[in-house]
Amino acid sequence: MQTKRYFMKLYFFLVLTLLSACDSWDTPRRVHLTIGTGGLTGVYYPTGQSIAKLLNQKKKQHNLKAQAESTAGSVYNINALLAGEMEVALAQSDRVYQAYQGEKEWKEAGPQRELRSLFALHSEVVTLIVSKASGIQQFQDLKGKRINLGNLGSGQLANAQDALNAFGISVNDIQAEYVKAIEAPGLLQDERLDAFFYTVGHPNGNIKEAANGRLPIRILPITGPEIKLMILEQPYYSLAGIPLKYYQKGAMDEVAQSFGVKAMVLTRAQVSDEIAYWVTKQTFDNLEEFKATHPAFAGLTKANMLQGLFAPLHPGAIRYYKEVGMRIPPNLLPPHE
Ligand code: GLU
Repeated sequence: MQTKRYFMKLYFFLVLTLLSACDSWDTPRRVHLTIGTGGLTGVYYPTGQSIAKLLNQKKKQHNLKAQAESTAGSVYNINALLAGEMEVALAQSDRVYQAYQGEKEWKEAGPQRELRSLFALHSEVVTLIVSKASGIQQFQDLKGKRINLGNLGSGQLANAQDALNAFGISVNDIQAEYVKAIEAPGLLQDERLDAFFYTVGHPNGNIKEAANGRLPIRILPITGPEIKLMILEQPYYSLAGIPLKYYQKGAMDEVAQSFGVKAMVLTRAQVSDEIAYWVTKQTFDNLEEFKATHPAFAGLTKANMLQGLFAPLHPGAIRYYKEVGMRIPPNLLPPHE
């Protein structure tokens, strides 16, 4: 009797082991992918989380598991993507253009031709926040002041430098700081900064934090013939505005004029078609659900999500666009090997 029970147990044990082994033979291992974003108070981080959530809804089907990671911003993301440290990333369109062409931070390394686009997202406006106590009334008043231009690795650093250059102000004319955007509102409120630049979608938690502190602030417009000329010279800049209603009570339809770029979702040529296809499909198939996750996405349409891209599309994304009959801009087809 004892021995029979023993063999029964052994038999069940063997069957269970065999079944679980079969299971792991059948299902290929789940592929984990990282989506590089930005600081926690910006728009990139919640964007990455929304894309990851939509993708993970179908994980049984595609066996991919995505996670958004907070990072130093566009330039960091592009480099981490190229180095194989992440599979998908958000970045400013101007920074993608510069990397693809081998300009600015990529001058020495040369053109980064492995970058691939999936789609474009919201507009990001070059935003200049000044404390009222600083006495800064117009752009020229920035001279001599403590101004955060942005951390190394961020997108905004070059935008702040371009804006200063356009007005003939050199970094030596100001007290330049290079801290992360997440720290800037606190430093402004502590009177350790007079102003800071941030290239970001609106509304966002960062500017809300700056606007809701003890010290009153102002969103300073960045306008004039200097900016118009700069936009004509650069393919990636366009005029843009910040709706003040997001940050000021009673502001109604007022807008602070400035210039801006677009946020893009990127990958690199070596990333699998499977990943590129599913990230694109889940975002486009569920566009209304995606748009509801952040007010900065209000203006997105399937058509404008294929505009303003400066790196060719990944074949996996093209597969999706063809499947749903979307027109692919011919200049975005990947180069022939
Ligand atoms: N545009 C910023 C950057 O590239 C990030 C903005 C955000 O996190 O929303 O560094």
